[in-house]
Amino acid sequence: MAALEKFHMAIWSKTLSIALFSVTMLLFLPLIYHFGLALKPATKTAINGHATIESADFLQRKTLALDGQWLFYWKQLLEPEQIQKSEGKSTFIQGHGGWQSSNNNQHYGAIGFATYHLEVELEFGASNLALQIPQIESAYSVYIDKQLMASGGAASDTELSGKPGYNTAIVRIPEGLKQFTITIQVSNYHSSWGGLWAPIVLGDADALHTLQRDKVALSLFIMGALLITAIHSLIQFFVRPTDNIPLVYTCLCLLLFLREFTVEHMSFALSSLAGGFVLITKLNFLSFYAGIPIALYFFHLSFSEEFHHKFCRFIYVLSMLFSAYILFFPTRYFGVPLIMYEVIAVFVMLYILQRVWVATRHKQRGAGVLLIGSLIAFSFALNDILNASGVITTGRFFSLGIIGFIMSQSFVTNNRYNQLSSNNETLTDKLKERNADLMLMSELLETKVEQRTRQLKLANKELKALANNDPLTNTYNRHGLQQYIQAAFERYRRSQECFCILLIDYDHFKEINDSYGHDVGDIVLITGADLIKSGIREQDKLARWGGEEFLVLLPNTDLKGAFEIANKLKDAICAYPIGQPVGVKVSVSGGIAEVQKDDTFETLFKRADDALYQGKQNGRNQIRS
Ligand code: GH3
Ligand code: MG
Ligand code: MG
Repeated sequence: MAALEKFHMAIWSKTLSIALFSVTMLLFLPLIYHFGLALKPATKTAINGHATIESADFLQRKTLALDGQWLFYWKQLLEPEQIQKSEGKSTFIQGHGGWQSSNNNQHYGAIGFATYHLEVELEFGASNLALQIPQIESAYSVYIDKQLMASGGAASDTELSGKPGYNTAIVRIPEGLKQFTITIQVSNYHSSWGGLWAPIVLGDADALHTLQRDKVALSLFIMGALLITAIHSLIQFFVRPTDNIPLVYTCLCLLLFLREFTVEHMSFALSSLAGGFVLITKLNFLSFYAGIPIALYFFHLSFSEEFHHKFCRFIYVLSMLFSAYILFFPTRYFGVPLIMYEVIAVFVMLYILQRVWVATRHKQRGAGVLLIGSLIAFSFALNDILNASGVITTGRFFSLGIIGFIMSQSFVTNNRYNQLSSNNETLTDKLKERNADLMLMSELLETKVEQRTRQLKLANKELKALANNDPLTNTYNRHGLQQYIQAAFERYRRSQECFCILLIDYDHFKEINDSYGHDVGDIVLITGADLIKSGIREQDKLARWGGEEFLVLLPNTDLKGAFEIANKLKDAICAYPIGQPVGVKVSVSGGIAEVQKDDTFETLFKRADDALYQGKQNGRNQIRS
């Protein structure tokens, strides 16, 4: 019953979490709209270096990208007042895409310097207007009319004095102006792309600041989310170091964090650093170059059965080579491998998607949710790549894609840990049951062992008794008597304490057996032994030596004493009416030997045996020595 309840709960919690996940994802749609489309400025296309702005241009959006034909002076860094004089040396260039872009009729090398110039005519007097200057590669100075308004790095006509800068700016247009010129001196010795990459945006100063602020806010939000996720995964890794996935995920989050930290509108954070341009550019590129293999590694670890190990290893090595290029080569050469790596990145993304799709079909845990998350992230990344290469002009979305990915991964991780903890619970329950069983078994075992030990002790005792005693007559056997014989010999050797042995043998015992049966024979033997035992002293020892023959050890006894005891015993045995009511008449013969110098037991025994033999020969029923 409890198990069924648990099962229902699990299904419920799963349905509920999937529903929550879907609803939360929907909540992000307005965010995507806001940051992707609403913030995108409208476009004003200048003609022949001249743009006329009408009030209608600001109807839809409060910001206007100044694109189209700008006047362009290649290899000339002109002050605003020099522009008119150099009229003949100018060409036209697009207000975006850099000067070596194929959008322009002429192709210039990335490295060089030039002046951009645009005349702007306002149908209305400027009121609260500003220009947003994007990141311009790789140094610039912006003039409105003759006034220097902003600069990034140091634009120069010599490479030595041209310093790169990485900063954007918002500059105000003086109130009431109806006409003004924008002159931008640009020099580039540090980037693969020279000139204006994104267009200058004209617009309401507040709207531009809001746009900037919102972008920064979104980045900070994403960076916070990434950092918290990274810390969370790192803790997960420390709690369960056998699982590497959280650690790889931590790396991925930190790389994405770096990427977000180095986007254009976050440049204020790092641009004041010495070497800020190179640092930011390298970090930004590295986050992309190293991000691809780490993302692949993350999926590879998560669904190791679905990914081809050799292919993955190939991509890791390839990415490492590309990343090394970024690390060690100057930033001005970064354009060389970019297209190639972008193609590889797109290919790897498609490969990951396809493999996660296969994992989903194999019903791998979490594959479905991860597929949705990575689909979002990858389509946004693809958008960014295409956007950056100028194929489309949708704007940058990857940051939002990251959120989708983080959410899906958090969902999967949570699910995995839920599963693990429920497995753990089941295992703990089982373990408890087993433990109880084990306790019971060990108790049983203990009693069994005790029982066995008792039995063993008893058996041992019996065995010992068997080894030393004769069971029929309950006297010693040969083995049992040995120790006393040895002791007697020792006492004799040490203190000349003499002793005797007496052999007693029933006469014609065979006949008793034959006449009255073996059982009666046994009784005769038992009775005889009892009679001997009660007729000897405490220190004397009796053993059944064999068949119907007994040996009595008489310590501290000389031959004379031995004779007395032997005759007494013989008489007692002969006098005893055994086997009532049959009344069997028995007699015994005896042989005595006293210990002598140099005796061994064998020699001593032989003398007693010989004496017994003589007694038998001599008519039996007598004691001899
Ligand atoms: P002798 O006077 O020469 O000693 O004659 P005997 O018949 O006693 O001869 P012997 O010593 O050769 O025979 C011993 C007999 O004792 C043979 C055997 O059947 C019998 N006997 C030996 N052990 C036992 C026993 O434990 N119980 C019984 N009932 N008989 C035994
Ligand atoms: Mg006999
Ligand atoms: Mg005998």
